[in-house]
Amino acid sequence: MPTTVDHACIIRGTVVSCRHDVAPQAGMDSLDSFTDGALHIADGVIRSLGPAAKVLAEAGTDHPPIHDFRGRLVVPGFIDIHTHCPQADIIASYGEALLTWLNRYAFPAEQRFAAPEVAEETAQFFMDELLRNGTTSALIMGTVHAHSADAILRAAHARGMRVAAGKLMMDRNCPEALQDTAASGVADSRELLRRWHGVGRLAYAISPRFAPTSSEAQLSGAGHLARECPEAYLQTHLAENSAEVAWVSELFPWAEDYLAVYEHFGLVRPGAVFAHCIHMTPAARQRLAEHGAATAFAATANLFLGSGLMDYPTQAALGLRTGLGTDIGAGTSFSLLRTAAAAYQIAALHGTPLSAAHLLYLATRGGARALDIDHRVGHFAPGMEADVVVLDPEGSRLSARRTAATDLEETLFALFTLGDERHVAATYVAGRPARGDISTGT
Ligand SMILES: [Zn+2]
Repeated sequence: MPTTVDHACIIRGTVVSCRHDVAPQAGMDSLDSFTDGALHIADGVIRSLGPAAKVLAEAGTDHPPIHDFRGRLVVPGFIDIHTHCPQADIIASYGEALLTWLNRYAFPAEQRFAAPEVAEETAQFFMDELLRNGTTSALIMGTVHAHSADAILRAAHARGMRVAAGKLMMDRNCPEALQDTAASGVADSRELLRRWHGVGRLAYAISPRFAPTSSEAQLSGAGHLARECPEAYLQTHLAENSAEVAWVSELFPWAEDYLAVYEHFGLVRPGAVFAHCIHMTPAARQRLAEHGAATAFAATANLFLGSGLMDYPTQAALGLRTGLGTDIGAGTSFSLLRTAAAAYQIAALHGTPLSAAHLLYLATRGGARALDIDHRVGHFAPGMEADVVVLDPEGSRLSARRTAATDLEETLFALFTLGDERHVAATYVAGRPARGDISTGT
């Protein structure tokens, strides 16, 4: 009798995954790859992987259905470590730098989230858009409204995604309609944390927006909550724009630098993710690395708002944990392929063009390391959760032409340069097809 195992399948294609941490210019020998490979998935996790002939032989005659993607790349699901759900509708808004952009576009969009049905509908759209782009894990900012975090986490849970999110804390320097208080910000965050953290694949992120929109009392409260719940994530922004950095030094004259504000309130620790980190001294970068915190490289957003160029090669040399952030809506794409392409260009301007292997690392295992989930997702190994994206080199006419008769390294690099959602053939969340056309063979 055939045994039926929940959600079992074999995904066949060119299986590629990072074997370990990958240096910025490391070659393909830092990847595990099987040209005609397969992943045997059962109960949401990877049971085995390797050459297709071996995996199929081991699976025996009553093997589960084969999803045949030969000629396409089977890689770990992408991990987006910084983005804003409520800003989905202001992507591609013209022509402002950070602080005016917040006032003109972001705050009005976030005020619309006061209506729970807007939050709900946007969260559903947002999660589907992540999956269409091959993103299976994300760290997401809501709005100041507690129900924004509920909407995001509920939508992620319904799709089985590994997602962390939080309601923003902001009690000054923003429209009154978007302000909580030092006390209510902490109380609401604590309640959301209790409700959601550890439910299925979800986690909660304590989320002060950035230093200028929180009073010292609120930052102090966030720090207390972070100590009370060391398992929770922290997410905020740091040193994105030079006017913002100058404003922080006016608001917190006692602080040695911007990072010192967060350090003072106990907000810099493992599990804390700081978006941008552009206008930083070498000493501040070193301190971030020593704290075990992580940075989000929001490359398209940094270019779009003209914020500056993260010195990624220096960061990487320090061993600072870094993943990619689409930073919707300042970012210009939901696609981590597009985000990686921009990261490549910024690193090239710093004299270090990133290798194909490293671009894959940034989108997968690097993001997992930044979120401290690299023992669960981000690369393929037996027992790892089966979040998978299938990339199609023939997703566009141009990429099909470019990748005809090339090797795996060139194909991977071309996908990270030319690719977008058209190149995502399928996305699997915990072994279940979440998006795409799946041809099952035998
Ligand atoms: Zn952001």
